[in-house]
Amino acid sequence: METKQWFVDNPVNNLSCYPQIQEAAQLLRDGEVIGFPTETVYGLGADAMSNQAVEKIFLAKGRPSDNPLIVHIAMKEQLQTIVTEVPLMAEKLMDAFWPGPLTIILPKKDGLSEKVTAGLDTVGVRMPSHPVALALLKAADVPVAAPSANRSGRPSPTTARHVYDDLKGKIAGVIDGGTTGVGVESTVVDCTGDIPIILRPGGVTREQLEEVVGIVVMDESLKNEKITPKSPGMKYTHYAPDAPLVIVEGSKEFLQEIVNKEKQAGKKIGVLTTAENQSYYQADVVLACGERRDLSSVAQHLYDVLRRFNDYDIDAIYSESFTEKGIGQAIMNRLTKASGHRFLKE
Ligand code: AMP
Ligand code: MG
Repeated sequence: METKQWFVDNPVNNLSCYPQIQEAAQLLRDGEVIGFPTETVYGLGADAMSNQAVEKIFLAKGRPSDNPLIVHIAMKEQLQTIVTEVPLMAEKLMDAFWPGPLTIILPKKDGLSEKVTAGLDTVGVRMPSHPVALALLKAADVPVAAPSANRSGRPSPTTARHVYDDLKGKIAGVIDGGTTGVGVESTVVDCTGDIPIILRPGGVTREQLEEVVGIVVMDESLKNEKITPKSPGMKYTHYAPDAPLVIVEGSKEFLQEIVNKEKQAGKKIGVLTTAENQSYYQADVVLACGERRDLSSVAQHLYDVLRRFNDYDIDAIYSESFTEKGIGQAIMNRLTKASGHRFLKE
């Protein structure tokens, strides 16, 4: 299949009337899948009401069918076709964080493709804030199911090039809207119980959520890998670069010692650090991921850096670790998954 590329790099007013957006929206309505930018990462969208369309997402990504998809909407009125009720805490969170990087789990309504929810009786819903995403969703005029637009297991895409590299020939097209802003996926929060539960940390921090709805808890599985996650997708390996990744908790001297030992054993080694320490390390490849003093820049560049390591012939990657405060929680969650839970402590 030919994968079309549309460039909408310079957002203008009335984007949904743009011919590129109109063409992509028509393909969505026709049951095709389309890559598009959101403020978190690039999404791979399909009509959420159509089993056939949604099935194409799973095929293109190689995604396990028990991993449900997030439904994207442009207007709150669209909730009526997707969910049976919106509890007060969910309403408050929508008012505070939509459009934006927050996915809310609610009881699902019949009519939605059951492939979207992987058989669960709940559905995750989000209103993205990226102007191109909103324009596409408005023009398509259907709720759009969209996971990240990468092959399953690979780092999520933060540029249209990443999408093209992974899915060329497998999808109808991708809209290029430049590099995404947040860089990690949305926060997934379950609002079907008495207290909101974070199932996946992401672009909206726990601290921000608590300012709006009081106490918010983390799903137990986020701290203990032996507990089965409430969010089916959280059990899979994700975001992994080709070479094994190990997270080092300790000083930069400790990390360099590990690299030295590996080098003595004849290994080729990559180091994942930030701008502050880039010139300190001596290894085969040293890549900086934003600036440590601005963790949002680390989140923004994380997936691109994980992908860039694949351009080098290396045997292992050692990464610095980050504080779990604020957006650091999402960064460490993604790094931990990318490493398959491999840690070295000083
Ligand atoms: P992705 O689409 O790659 O951003 O992944 C979506 C994430 O949301 C996965 O971790 C899913 O397991 C999670 N998710 C989607 N829908 C639900 C739901 N109804 N209940 C719990 N988790 C969900
Ligand atoms: Mg994903």
